[in-house]
Amino acid sequence: SGFIRLNRYLARAGVCSSRRAADVLIASGQVRVNGKVASLGARIGPNDVVEVNGRRVVPQTEALYILLHKPHDTITTCHDERGRKTVLDCLTLPPEQKQGLFPVGRLDRNTTGVLLLTNDGELAYRLMHPRYRIEKIYVARTARPVTPHEVTLLRKGVLLEDGLARAERVSVNPADPHEIALMLYEGRNRQVRRMLEALGHEVVHLKRTHYAGLTTQGVRPGKWRRLSADEVRRLY
Ligand code: URA
Repeated sequence: SGFIRLNRYLARAGVCSSRRAADVLIASGQVRVNGKVASLGARIGPNDVVEVNGRRVVPQTEALYILLHKPHDTITTCHDERGRKTVLDCLTLPPEQKQGLFPVGRLDRNTTGVLLLTNDGELAYRLMHPRYRIEKIYVARTARPVTPHEVTLLRKGVLLEDGLARAERVSVNPADPHEIALMLYEGRNRQVRRMLEALGHEVVHLKRTHYAGLTTQGVRPGKWRRLSADEVRRLY
């Protein structure tokens, strides 16, 4: 994650017109990484300093902000060793644009809904830090109806292994008591499922309908769109 091959880095920074040309440059010893002559196949991370003939090269990575409507049966990682479908596999983008992209937080394999992906580490940090109190709304479908008493418990907090967990807002669909919406600021691992399971509920389906005011509206499951400049500004 975040590491790219030196030849790609040089091509992207505009030093060479192709990765092939970059390889020639590297092989000729004109490229240094952190002060040492670079070898073919070197990989460059965010903290590496690259120089060509003594001149610092700065990569031009375009900031990408993507909203994915995560479908069922996808893993929230960049790469799965067991070959299961990941959220990055959902993105129909050229590989060089996927490079450096990572999901902001995570959704369980079978949770659907809003998932942001970006290569902007600063924004991702802010969104994931509890201090910024990002609103997340989840809609769960339960096997048994949710009672008014359980709504009260979810608001007050239910005790989980890792401490008390509460929903800031809770509502049950008046026309369908198997459907409950919860708004949380936190995002502990499997938190919504664990809160409902602690009350003896079986979660049949879980969708994140809102994340920081962004919704899946107009984006079908498995599809994605870029955030507009306005949307990005509102997240900051
Ligand atoms: N809470 C869960 O239980 N699962 C998710 O995927 C997200 C929040």
